[in-house]
Amino acid sequence: MKKYHIWTIGCQMNVADSTHVGAELEKLGYEPTGTIDEADVVVLNTCVVRQSAENKALGKLGSLKPWRLQNPDRTLALMGCMVGVRPSPKLLNAFPWVDVFMAPSEARPLVEHIRNRMTAEELRQAEARQLVFRHQLQDEAYPIASLKHLSLAGETPVAAYVPVVYGCSHACTYCIIPFRRGIERSRPLQEIADETRGLVAQGVREITLLGQIVDRYGYDFEGGRPNLVDLLEAVHEIEGLWRIRFLTSHPSYMNDALLEAVARLPKLMPHIEVPIQAGDDEVLARMKRGYTAEDYRRLVARIREIIPDVAIHTDIIVGFPGETDAQFQQTYDILEDLRLEKAHLARYSPRPGTVSARRMEDDVPDAEKRRRHQLLEAQHERISAELNRRWLNETVEVLVEDMHKGKWRGRTPQNRLVFFEDDRNLRGRLVDVTITWTGPWSMQGVAADRLAVARDIPTGLIVH
Ligand code: SAH
Repeated sequence: MKKYHIWTIGCQMNVADSTHVGAELEKLGYEPTGTIDEADVVVLNTCVVRQSAENKALGKLGSLKPWRLQNPDRTLALMGCMVGVRPSPKLLNAFPWVDVFMAPSEARPLVEHIRNRMTAEELRQAEARQLVFRHQLQDEAYPIASLKHLSLAGETPVAAYVPVVYGCSHACTYCIIPFRRGIERSRPLQEIADETRGLVAQGVREITLLGQIVDRYGYDFEGGRPNLVDLLEAVHEIEGLWRIRFLTSHPSYMNDALLEAVARLPKLMPHIEVPIQAGDDEVLARMKRGYTAEDYRRLVARIREIIPDVAIHTDIIVGFPGETDAQFQQTYDILEDLRLEKAHLARYSPRPGTVSARRMEDDVPDAEKRRRHQLLEAQHERISAELNRRWLNETVEVLVEDMHKGKWRGRTPQNRLVFFEDDRNLRGRLVDVTITWTGPWSMQGVAADRLAVARDIPTGLIVH
């Protein structure tokens, strides 16, 4: 059987795009391999949100040149934000050893490349395989073409990503994503629901709905419906699905109806990802974020008021053009005040084509960006450790995802990582775990009771 290997870097959307490509290749009769040398097809799924990510992809691309040139039957595909919606002639010329260039979320060019090289018999065999797969799903009604993230090989994780809004039409001045992922497009609700049912039939228990501004789901539909609340209600109905998250939110698009839905629907986890980016109003205005620090404070208070025990995650950029020490201090201070559960920290990196790269001087020296980054890192570690301590001796519900270094690894409703030892196979189970140790980035515990393996699971759905 022919094999494929996918290398992925970047955001959750890229991870989802990679599972989509994997699923499409499996429909053509390919199987996954972790080893590049075994692979007939290698896909590099790239990110350019910061220069550092772009450099890693360029390095990987260079290292794959000999692999590709050694054997003319091999296929190398370059995918994602390095390619963009339409690859530039410059990119095409720079890497002549790449066979296929693929826009983000777009598997078709590779599928067509491979199909064109398959014999009629090979195509027939691939079709037959799909029929068997559909039969295994026990629901012939699924339109298989719309199931974008299902692995025929059954290598399905416990927690999976489901894109619901592709692209982005916002114009944050630092951000390259709208240039590379195209305009905002919502996926049809029915397609998302079908796909989620398919994932659940394969053993997925938690889904995270993805969009650059996920709260804008449906804004591009006539009349703005269905919206994110409608979508959450629809997937909430799916039997066998236990947990639902969504990200990333934008402070200007979160509303009470959405927060109330999270509070009301039991499968919706108390976990909100809503980036602030900076704590200074002038910096926020130059970033074109569309809100003030005070607006953000009010939003955090509102989220906490409506969703009990919520964990709020945020993103921060330090060293945006013109950011003074005093302005950085505003970011530090608001984080000190708000004590958010998680902060993804980044140093500003000018990206080609963006407003900030064209019109603003990247004038915060690298050493200063690093210093600010380190200050926030230390602050975050301290606050995180303090917040986690509150879980000590508490019993929390953990959805077990996998085994890591001899311990089961899973997440709490608040998305806190928990490790614990147990000799039973608990993958894909909800387990009550009593926390015995907490650190800033994870917690450890013991399964509360041998009989407390929570909730009965219909057999046959679990991947042992
Ligand atoms: N649309 C999502 C994700 C954007 S990319 C959102 O609104 O959050 C993820 C994070 O990368 C951003 O939140 C931002 O903090 C960071 N980022 C984006 N562009 C950047 C740049 N040019 N330099 C440094 N960090 C950047």
